[in-house]
Amino acid sequence: MGILLAEVSDFLASGPMKLFIGGQWVDAVRRGRLETCDPGTGKVLAEVAAAGQEDVNRAVEAAQQAFKKSGWPAMPANDRAVVLHRLADLIDKHRDILAQIESLDVGKPIAQAAADVAFAAQTLRYYADLSVNTRRREPIAVSGHEAYTLRVPYGVCAFIFPWNFPFLLLSWGISPALATGNAVVVKPAEDTPLSTVYLCRLAQQAGVPDGVINVLPGYGEPAGAALAAHPGIRRMSFTGSPEVGRTVAAACGANLVPVKLELGGKGAAVLFDDIDIDQTASALVSALTLNTGQVCCTATRWLVHESIWDQLVERAKTRLEHLNIGYSLSPGTEMGPVVSPKQKNRVLGYLQRGVAEGASALLPGGEAEIPEFRGGFYVKPALLTGPPENVCAREEIFGPVAYLMPFKTEDEAVDLVNRSFYGLANSVWSKNLDRAHRVAETMVAGSSWINAHNVFKHGIPYAGANLSGLGGGVLGPETLYDYLRPQSVVRPV
Ligand code: NAD
Repeated sequence: MGILLAEVSDFLASGPMKLFIGGQWVDAVRRGRLETCDPGTGKVLAEVAAAGQEDVNRAVEAAQQAFKKSGWPAMPANDRAVVLHRLADLIDKHRDILAQIESLDVGKPIAQAAADVAFAAQTLRYYADLSVNTRRREPIAVSGHEAYTLRVPYGVCAFIFPWNFPFLLLSWGISPALATGNAVVVKPAEDTPLSTVYLCRLAQQAGVPDGVINVLPGYGEPAGAALAAHPGIRRMSFTGSPEVGRTVAAACGANLVPVKLELGGKGAAVLFDDIDIDQTASALVSALTLNTGQVCCTATRWLVHESIWDQLVERAKTRLEHLNIGYSLSPGTEMGPVVSPKQKNRVLGYLQRGVAEGASALLPGGEAEIPEFRGGFYVKPALLTGPPENVCAREEIFGPVAYLMPFKTEDEAVDLVNRSFYGLANSVWSKNLDRAHRVAETMVAGSSWINAHNVFKHGIPYAGANLSGLGGGVLGPETLYDYLRPQSVVRPV
């Protein structure tokens, strides 16, 4: 096991951790608590206050006050960017601490957690810089009138996040909202609140005014539901499952609050017969096992040209059989545990259902035994094959399980990809770039990647189609405008 940093031990021992409202650390009004545990050992990491309806009311009120009185929305964009760059610098400075916290809370290998933290800091910088160069007052050329459009922040923006990339998604979500002068109220997932709580410490040091960032660890019910239904929020962003996304959207709909949904996926990878089989098998194994397959856009359906089926399956199996599954902080761990016993049962349950419905196991998966960490939630990767109607070919499993199907023609492959209700991200693999682009453009999803899977860059929008989401997505320059309300000002002359 890797060595725990003293700062991380101190942070974990500082519990029960509190809510962060209006720049103050406070208990939940009803004294609610939750426990977050280390998925690698099953042991409790920390006790954290769990917000209720009253705390949501307090946080939204604190954010409203900050929006009115802190000067944050009216500050020149450059001054706000200075504060956000300072926050990004502090994240970088505390990168090792944050990475350990994230690695322990989620169970992801430390190198993956460190990469998330670095990316999160870059996202803050990207939107801070973009906001400086965004025109807030755009003259409109119309005859007989003086007219212009103003772009102003909305006010209180609410965010609800899942547990798979807590710190990264936090930054992808709140960076554009903060850079444009909004105040935010954040509910992290109950399984993984720690890095979000830690960010509040850094935000205070960076000089983010009190009440501009409020954090409410808590359960979906009551905290998430109360936040989504609060009439004081002006925008809502939800990242998580389509099931909960629907309830969040319904609550926002009742208040006519615009909502952004980043939901699940069932990503496909289409492998043509001219690929480098070794390299592609290796890349897909990396995609499938990243964060133990708990990645919304990961490649979970592999459509393989029939002429390379045997070789591809063989290479992928060999690579997966030799995967180093272990504790998140142990050097050399390639894949950690899943986040919770619930998630472990979900993955194992899908494997059983898939086989019961007629899938065959090319690699059976199942529970993984890690002798030193018997209490952890470890699973082995699995490869299944069978008809496209199988439950494991259709539904999001959210674990290291791929469903493989052979195809003969390009049309057949595209048809299989587009049978999914989801539409988050797919990839196509071929040396024939004409074909690759043709297929990339025909697959219905927010993102199509060519000869790669899981490609994220600032400036390239990442959003879902169909059941995978709505509202514009994240990471694009347009995302900044999602947090600026347009207002026309007109004077007949
Ligand atoms: P989830 O929907 O169960 O929970 C997400 C968040 O919603 C949590 O904070 C939870 O507490 C909260 N919540 C639960 N019930 C609620 C309610 N009634 N009202 C308001 N909030 C409520 O999802 P999860 O299991 O945490 O995450 C996995 C899902 O997230 C997968 O479907 C995955 O694909 C998706 N996801 C999507 C993206 C993306 O960018 N599209 C990124 C990461 C994860």
